Amino acid sequence: MQHLIRTADFSKEEILELFNDAREFLDMKTRDVLKGKIIVTLFFENSTRTRSAFEIAAKRLGAEIVSLDVGTSSRSKGETIFDTVANINAMKPDAIIMRHSDCGLPGTLVNHVDCPIINAGDGKHAHPTQALLDLFTIVEHFDGQTDGKKVAIVGDVRTSRVAGSNRKLLPRFGMEVCFVAPECFQHESSDHKQHNNISEIIDEVDVVMSLRTQLERHNEIYFQSLNDYAKDYCITKDTFGDRNILLLHPGPVNRNVDISDEMLVDPRNKVLEQVTNGVVVRMAILKKLIKQ
Ligand code: ASP
Repeated sequence: MQHLIRTADFSKEEILELFNDAREFLDMKTRDVLKGKIIVTLFFENSTRTRSAFEIAAKRLGAEIVSLDVGTSSRSKGETIFDTVANINAMKPDAIIMRHSDCGLPGTLVNHVDCPIINAGDGKHAHPTQALLDLFTIVEHFDGQTDGKKVAIVGDVRTSRVAGSNRKLLPRFGMEVCFVAPECFQHESSDHKQHNNISEIIDEVDVVMSLRTQLERHNEIYFQSLNDYAKDYCITKDTFGDRNILLLHPGPVNRNVDISDEMLVDPRNKVLEQVTNGVVVRMAILKKLIKQ
């Protein structure tokens, strides 16, 4: 049985196979691939895109989804997360999709369940399905020619799990990842070049991935107002000029802080394409993990 806790759980070949399926699923037709299967979602952190994309993906494949409302579950009566998962597992679902604020938690559960666990985001650690859909969006945009492409990840790279997963996944497909962030958001890792200002590298990059400031994970106040941050890090028409750069963001976008209104309607911005790709890539992941 295979789980998806981090992108390294899939080989490059497996990822390319997933993308072949995802491409077929772009017709958004409902299929019987997972008919009769039951998938449980456990979201202990907020979610808009990831949770609904998983639900739609499951339904498009003919599976049933049971979404545990963690606010009204027995967690609030004092049950530990391990006991909650053991109880869900005892109901014999075909997969468990989980989001939690504890880094590494989904990974520690894999030996306690009889079905695949899919990590839908664990604290600031990893968000493998987001990174896979980001990669799929880049692969499709460049017709598979990702070798040598340069990707700037801009913003709160220190606490973003999206940055955490992409910085490992994209180089496996020949891309060079650099970070653009103020001192307070820079990453501890020295594996990637870090810049203070996007103007230093804008002429060299093929992709800009803007990130939301992860206020819910900060223990201190770094900026008096996000507008102070936006002055240097918001992606605007001025930032891009007429350069041919692909603009991505995992959502939720803080308008005029992460990306300007104008750039959100610019054709170089593929944020909504990422959302559509999020459904089909997750369909491919569910098929791969559950159908075997
Ligand atoms: N939706 C993404 C996540 O769950 C990005 C974000 O929240 O900023 O990590």
